[in-house]
Amino acid sequence: MSATTLGISEIFHSIQGEGSYAGWPCAFIRLAGCGHGCAGCDTGYAEEKGITLEREEIIQKALTFQPPCIEITGGEPLLQPAVYPLMTQLCDLDQKVLLETGGFISVEKVDTRVHKIIDLKPPSSGVAEQNHPDNIRLALAAEPPHRHTFEFKIVIAGKEDYEWATSLLQKHQLTDSFTVMMGVAFGKLDPAELAEWMLRDRLRARLQLQLHKYLWEPSRRGV
Ligand code: SF4
Repeated sequence: MSATTLGISEIFHSIQGEGSYAGWPCAFIRLAGCGHGCAGCDTGYAEEKGITLEREEIIQKALTFQPPCIEITGGEPLLQPAVYPLMTQLCDLDQKVLLETGGFISVEKVDTRVHKIIDLKPPSSGVAEQNHPDNIRLALAAEPPHRHTFEFKIVIAGKEDYEWATSLLQKHQLTDSFTVMMGVAFGKLDPAELAEWMLRDRLRARLQLQLHKYLWEPSRRGV
């Protein structure tokens, strides 16, 4: 890819299914490629090469949806250098830009106006050791209003993940300052069980359901 082109898996219009913007119509720009190999990855098709598009084409396509927000996702979007100017250009156009990242790359170079949704991968992912230490450090060091652009997401597949997550949240006091969304690995854990654990432990995280998997068939692409 050049400095102005990106490998794109798909650009589509849907309802935001996750995070603090859940429920909003949103344009999604899904970048191709990741390679992180998380167990249970539900966007494996984004590993395919995709198509190469100029930054301007991508922006124009996303803007046709006149969306209240635009999410940059993947794959792992931060692997492509041209994603950084893409996000900045969208911010300059007064767009609300969300970034969904797998959390194994530092978000240090991301435009501070971008709302960063950072995965904290738990043990069941098989890649918990590769969560980039910069990301929690940068969030804790950020001053308002930049501080409010950090959000964390943990996908829980069972009891071990839940205990890992609560210990991490406590260690860094993350729920005191940030939105922390806690969801279930679809089909692996009953959301009602996670809800019970959260209530029992007086956890100040937010339970999230992947809305798009309830609105449409769970394996459907482009939603
Ligand atoms: S980081 Fe995301 S896209 Fe990459 S393998 Fe993990 S879940 Fe899949």
